[in-house]
Amino acid sequence: MGRCALERGARTGQESGMAQAAGSGAAAGGAPGADAGRAALLDRLGRPLRSLRISVTDRCNLRCAYCMPEEAYTWLPREELLTFEEVARLVSVFTSLGVDRVRLTGGEPLLRQDLPELVRLLRRDARLTEVALTTNGVLLEEQLPGLLEAGLSRVTVSLDTLRPERFHALTRRNVHGRVLEGIAAVARAGLPGLKLDCVVVRGTNDDELDALLAFGQQVRAEVRFIEYMDVGGATRWAPGAVVSRAEMLERIGAHSGPITPVPTQSSAPAERFVLPDGTTFGIIASTTAPFCARCDRARLTADGTLFLCLYARQGVPLREALRSGAGPDVLARLVSSAWHRRDARGAEERLALIERQPLARREELREDPRLEMHTRGG
Ligand code: SF4
Repeated sequence: MGRCALERGARTGQESGMAQAAGSGAAAGGAPGADAGRAALLDRLGRPLRSLRISVTDRCNLRCAYCMPEEAYTWLPREELLTFEEVARLVSVFTSLGVDRVRLTGGEPLLRQDLPELVRLLRRDARLTEVALTTNGVLLEEQLPGLLEAGLSRVTVSLDTLRPERFHALTRRNVHGRVLEGIAAVARAGLPGLKLDCVVVRGTNDDELDALLAFGQQVRAEVRFIEYMDVGGATRWAPGAVVSRAEMLERIGAHSGPITPVPTQSSAPAERFVLPDGTTFGIIASTTAPFCARCDRARLTADGTLFLCLYARQGVPLREALRSGAGPDVLARLVSSAWHRRDARGAEERLALIERQPLARREELREDPRLEMHTRGG
């Protein structure tokens, strides 16, 4: 992991002449397979652009202590949010450059009205192999039929605890039952690939690892434990609150027996493991063992700002160009030149800090809401 792999990636990129844009094939909704065999767009460290997280709203109906712990937030102005047609136009630019997976996030994406309509629009782009959703699950049960009918591929639900009173304390909302109903609805619908994401915070929910794994088995979902990250918005982050990948593995192993890693070639953030009873689970070790070296992900905020790293201070504004009539080729050049210049490896740089504190102060977050994790899609 880490440095060596990163340097290997950089050499690969340089030897191959670095990044190549996908050329002029940026028109919306290309024919199926039209871009097969196109050159990957590589960044300065040799990483291809493959996946896009789209935050469709910065609003959320929960106030999780590790993500949105403050009373007041500065929201993106509503008139600046991209319409679904604008999102679809931008996504077609990204798919022309090599993106084949998109994930809809927030804030809480199900707060955005008529989200199935966006799924339907995105599904018209045959270059996308997957349109997935990450949600807190509160509104999932009622919206799932429309999302499935529109062609949603997969769902990930955030579930940090199985205890209603603990959920209430963590999120400041009394809706744990609705989250569980949402998860049950996905299981009933038989949608494959259900994942349950759990941010593990010491002293908050770190005594529930085994119970969450058992629950995952029950609902045929893979549980992924995420290390608590010091991203923008995590204003109460402290090193002592992080439960490391190593500690999680030790605790799970002590309860369930020997853990075997599941080999993968994937660029997905989670390392996967299997228990002796066949239960698989993932760990996303963004804080203690970052995976920047294989990061193929770009992020689009609800107001059309492109971020190339979760920790990036600056983004690339795409909305103005889009609204001033820029065509697909111009937009593709904007995105590809940003990706060419990308050398971000935010989590690795944070790991190298001697003294580590929350990434941003509250005042900074109020001045620039795009620094918030809930604005750039978690
Ligand atoms: S910190 Fe940035 S570069 Fe590293 S994995 Fe996260 S988004 Fe990718």
